[in-house]
Amino acid sequence: MRESDFFDEKDVRKPTSLTCPFCGRTFQYEVRWRQRLKKKTLPGGASSEDRRRFGKAQSYLVRIDDMVGCQNGRCRRRFEIASFQTVVFLSESEPAPDGNRKRPAGTPARRSRNRNHRRR
Ligand SMILES: [Zn+2]
Repeated sequence: MRESDFFDEKDVRKPTSLTCPFCGRTFQYEVRWRQRLKKKTLPGGASSEDRRRFGKAQSYLVRIDDMVGCQNGRCRRRFEIASFQTVVFLSESEPAPDGNRKRPAGTPARRSRNRNHRRR
């Protein structure tokens, strides 16, 4: 299962103030982002590995645009959007706990006490 199966993808535009490094003028630019919203439920046919990855997945935005063209008619140069992040997580929850919180029903508890101990 690919990571894209965990998310609903949509391209969005966010108005962002950017300052051109060449002329120093600031304008609002419609910066394009790819929005990946985590699905409510995992699609059918997911393996336990998929479930684990899905549990850790978070909704996020990835910036599509790296460059914009200056809106100053006398400048018009292209410059890099360096001032802000390329990935933004939408739900800043606490870090996912390592390992499973819930053991699937019917799975016998493993007798690897040492291993659990080392995990902490
Ligand atoms: Zn400029």
